[in-house]
Amino acid sequence: MIEVRNINKSYGNKKVLEDVSFKIEEGKITSFIGPNGAGKSTILSIISRLMDSDSGEVIIDGKEIKSWDSKELSKKLSILKQSNNLNIRLTIRELVSFGRFPYCEGKLKEDDERLVDEALNYMKLIDIQDKYLDELSGGQRQRAYIAMIIAQDTDYILLDEPLNNLDMKHSAEMMKLLREMVNDLGKTIIIVIHDINFASCYSDTIVALKDGKLVNHTITEEMITEDSLSCLYDMNFNIREVNNQKICIYF
Ligand code: ADP
Repeated sequence: MIEVRNINKSYGNKKVLEDVSFKIEEGKITSFIGPNGAGKSTILSIISRLMDSDSGEVIIDGKEIKSWDSKELSKKLSILKQSNNLNIRLTIRELVSFGRFPYCEGKLKEDDERLVDEALNYMKLIDIQDKYLDELSGGQRQRAYIAMIIAQDTDYILLDEPLNNLDMKHSAEMMKLLREMVNDLGKTIIIVIHDINFASCYSDTIVALKDGKLVNHTITEEMITEDSLSCLYDMNFNIREVNNQKICIYF
């Protein structure tokens, strides 16, 4: 379980997270939603130790994140941030192989190669695995980074806007894949997501943030209501039920 306790964070004198606490249940997809600037990316970075909080604690499987050994942490938790700009020229396969580094320190064994193949297959990248990242479309590159995270094979997977650059078909495929990873492999997935209908249709739990504060943490069914969403985003929503899914209309 991931427990976030009383996290505070400021940039200069601007408070961007204020006393944020919640617990992430295992074997679920949790979506972080909320307006721009709410603090979603910041809390994701703090949970993954990419950034320090000013106060508060993050407990991963009973142990405070600061006391985790780096290598052990990278076998337990992976994170994909929004901006991934590597300054070296890599093929898709080379990038995905990086996902295995916590296990093999750069020398991939047979099992590691197999997991790389599986991740490439999952993301439908086998045919273009030898292409260089700078030759790819934004969507192909995004899928390559996600394949790297899949190859890392961690219990906790944190993705900051995984649908960035993906078209509708690839977005739906991505969310279905995340669902499979939770249902079939028991992964625990946390995503920052802007598309409220993808959040509604694919997540189990929602953490809603606004102005650095936790506004709501509940099952998706309870968060996707006209009142809750209007209050969170300061705009009007109509919600319709289609095929047992709650669809938000806000255009
Ligand atoms: P969200 O992901 O919800 O859009 P962020 O966590 O990216 O929000 O940002 C929260 C707030 O922190 C925003 O007001 C943003 O401008 C500010 N912020 C983020 N990163 C920095 C930084 N490196 N320096 C100063 N302010 C920052």
